[in-house]
Amino acid sequence: MKRIAVMTSGGDCPGMNAAIRSVVRTALNYEMEVYGIEQGYSGLMEDQFIKLESRSVANMIQRGGTFLRSARAPEFKEEEGQLKAMENLKNQGIEGLIVIGGDGSLAGAKVIHDKYHFPVIGIPGSIDNDIYGTDMSIGVDTALNTILWCIDTINDTASSHDRTFIIEVMGRNCGYLALMSAISGGAEAALIPEVPFKIENIIKKIKERYEEGKTRSVIILAEGVGSAGDFGKTFDMIGGFETRITVLGHIQRGGSPTHFDRILATRMGASAVDSLLNGESGVMTALQERKIELVPLGEVLNNKRKMDKKLLEIAEVLSK
Ligand code: ADP
Repeated sequence: MKRIAVMTSGGDCPGMNAAIRSVVRTALNYEMEVYGIEQGYSGLMEDQFIKLESRSVANMIQRGGTFLRSARAPEFKEEEGQLKAMENLKNQGIEGLIVIGGDGSLAGAKVIHDKYHFPVIGIPGSIDNDIYGTDMSIGVDTALNTILWCIDTINDTASSHDRTFIIEVMGRNCGYLALMSAISGGAEAALIPEVPFKIENIIKKIKERYEEGKTRSVIILAEGVGSAGDFGKTFDMIGGFETRITVLGHIQRGGSPTHFDRILATRMGASAVDSLLNGESGVMTALQERKIELVPLGEVLNNKRKMDKKLLEIAEVLSK
């Protein structure tokens, strides 16, 4: 294999640049040529290839986002778009492709493998940690650290005024960010889509905590549960509270990647190149018990991550 390409697709996340850098330098070390595809599947269909050298990825490991940029491209779900993309890969002489992105992007990679029998490796990049088969996706750790900084900061003001705060965090349909940040931020409750709850029980719990002498309460709400604004209104109406709402929004997606994300991205990027050279295709690099393994894309996309029961238990016990 002499020429490969790499792209980032779907929602961006911190650590994508570190992964691209690792792909580029690992491949160059094997004397391969590397092309970057700008703007994900959109750039693949529009022939936006740029040659990457070692210096193209200098000063990149610490930068959030993705310098190749990312995009959503629904046209790639249609055969017409796919044929255009495959034609471009052929004309550019590309022999293997690495796709960094979330489950949508990995579904696109699966099409390239299954339908067009083209060598492709996926790398999980998504702050939500909703991708099955890997303990962690690239970007999750950085997002959690950003959320934690926000919770700590809000906690300071909440304690000074005996206030109740509801903080809405990202995660799409997955409650991982909410649960983990609630545990590490010492919040009173984490409301996540995986665990049904009654608002009356949350109100009762918060009131009991105040009676026991707590000076403030912080509730973390996963976006998959609904909007913090709506939840807050009902919460105040039934409970007689005057809650403050903070929706963290896109700050969770940016920022310089943490040590953990840089190492994870670097290991996965190197593994993806090695895997292509070893003749692998249709698989995703995955962190499993500290090792980088390969998981078939079919398995990744046909399964749903389960929330760790022990962590749910710990969250409940420690929020007292
Ligand atoms: P993410 O990768 O963050 O989950 P999306 O779900 O938006 O983001 O997917 C990113 C892109 O992947 C889409 O815009 C589309 O180009 C491609 N994609 C998603 N699902 C499929 C699919 N089933 N078949 C082919 N391509 C897909």
